[in-house]
Amino acid sequence: MEYVNPYENLTDGKWMKANFHTHAGTGPGTCGANPIDVVVNTYKHLKYDVLCISNHDLFTDTSEYTDDRILMIPGVEYSRSEHMLTIGVDRSLHESVHQTAIDITNEIGGFTVLCHPNWGRKGYWSHDKMMSLQGYKGIEVLNMLIYRLSGSGLAADAWDYLLSNGRLVYGFGNDDFHAIPDAGRSFNVIFAKEPSFRALKESIDKGSFCASSGLYPEYLHLEDNIIRVKARYPIATYVDEFTYRFISENGKVLDVQFGKEGVYNLTGEKYVRVEAIGENGAMLYFQPVFQESFLK
Ligand SMILES: [Zn+2]
Ligand SMILES: [Zn+2]
Repeated sequence: MEYVNPYENLTDGKWMKANFHTHAGTGPGTCGANPIDVVVNTYKHLKYDVLCISNHDLFTDTSEYTDDRILMIPGVEYSRSEHMLTIGVDRSLHESVHQTAIDITNEIGGFTVLCHPNWGRKGYWSHDKMMSLQGYKGIEVLNMLIYRLSGSGLAADAWDYLLSNGRLVYGFGNDDFHAIPDAGRSFNVIFAKEPSFRALKESIDKGSFCASSGLYPEYLHLEDNIIRVKARYPIATYVDEFTYRFISENGKVLDVQFGKEGVYNLTGEKYVRVEAIGENGAMLYFQPVFQESFLK
């Protein structure tokens, strides 16, 4: 069996903290009521390296806020019907249907993420709709805003459904920032060569990132069909033991371990993904290790 490890050969770069889903600068009474400079400063305090202001069907030029502390990348939350983030675009694509907007985003060199799949109800994004679309990069497996709206901010069920049906899609973690207390609750940790859109996109295409609510990856190695995985807190601390959950097709939990490292011997699973859990309940979602012949 030939397995693909999205975390192979991670040298010459560093882990960068990124949020792709933020509403700001659209004025009083709207989702983005906070001024952009206030929001950018909030994320700088939280040590983010990358931020995208993604307003509803509205392109917001934030390039002037990029400096040596934070990289601003352009994006729009397509909101004509089921929401999705179109990242790296130079305009809103809400006049197009989902598939056309995804295709145009890819042509521009960007990528698309389906938003909050369980907002309001299980299956805000229906399985059929997600399966009918092609070319999006992933889904928000974690969107903490939803926990103060309605439904569930977790979409591991939708993720495992897509993976189990042969679709290679990645799990993203985003704040969906509306108000200041929304900041820093779910994010992406991306291993990239440099803080540039090009480098980040390259890493995202390979799946060299995790979705998180407070943990960072230390490593995920794959050798002789054995996964070795380790998480850590973002800061230096003596806390070095975590819970590791190994999950496969249709969300089946293959093993749960507690210790300094998680170890799992692959025995023909189509994919296996790892969730790490910290002592305070903080989560880390690794992208799947998978059989190339199965996931496309
Ligand atoms: Zn939305
Ligand atoms: Zn939003």
